[in-house]
Amino acid sequence: MDNPTRPDDWEWPRHELIRWEIGLTAPATRAFPLVDGLPVGGPSVVIMAGPCSVESESQIMATARAVKAAGAAVLRGGAFKPRTSPHSFQGLGKAGLALLRQAGEAVGLPVVTEVMAHTDVDLVARHAQILQIGARSMQNYPLLHAVGETKSPVILKRGFAATVEEWLGAVEHIRARGNERIILCERGIRAVETATRFTLDINAVPLMHRLCDLPIIVDPSHATGRADLVPEVSRAAIAAGADGLLVEVHPQPALALSDGQQSLAIDQFADLVPSLRRVANAIGRNIP
Ligand code: PEP
Ligand code: MN
Repeated sequence: MDNPTRPDDWEWPRHELIRWEIGLTAPATRAFPLVDGLPVGGPSVVIMAGPCSVESESQIMATARAVKAAGAAVLRGGAFKPRTSPHSFQGLGKAGLALLRQAGEAVGLPVVTEVMAHTDVDLVARHAQILQIGARSMQNYPLLHAVGETKSPVILKRGFAATVEEWLGAVEHIRARGNERIILCERGIRAVETATRFTLDINAVPLMHRLCDLPIIVDPSHATGRADLVPEVSRAAIAAGADGLLVEVHPQPALALSDGQQSLAIDQFADLVPSLRRVANAIGRNIP
């Protein structure tokens, strides 16, 4: 911002002070293309769906076909997985990237996948049109700088113990390196509640629109940790103004190598999309 002196607390609303403290550069235009012909942040709500992890060619191909047929615009799938335990499935790595890319090309969907290490950014950007920074990496500044130096759109997930101010600081780390194509993703934060995996901060959706005017999507899968809650929470996110959703879908959730309990089966996802469309239409938006 160009204001050289800090405004008095009583003169500015708290969110304007946050902007000033972080030195956020001029707000970006909210809408921009994720890939040619696929805008985010405009009237259309972008549905991104796919498995937590890419597990095999047949698994990612089946999911890609199904989510495309149901109305998703982007295929998701993790290849480098940040797992709490080093003994859990860590993702297929480079082989997973290749399978994801192949599945996206086969069905005609752009793909998004997480990049965990700054040294992997070029590799991941050669396979995926959209880069994802995971919640655990939100304050990995060398990684933020590396994605800031690419021309790829970046989904910046909120750290689950990060304040809005810290999240905006992460935005600015990417933006300061020249990449303005940032999509925020609210994926739930850790609050007092333990009945669900995380607590979705729905406030963040309209708040971030005011603070930095970037598109913001919601991940109802990690936010709830329970597939049965995903439909209602997805509809709530769109009603609150989310510019998209990032939903975990698996052909056989019970057999998933990660996050099966929160993954929708293919028929559940197909059933969900028409109701998302109705909510979007009710607030003057659409899901193509
Ligand atoms: C994921 O998208 O599978 C993931 C690991 O999410 P998060 O970084 O939000 O935990
Ligand atoms: Mn997951």
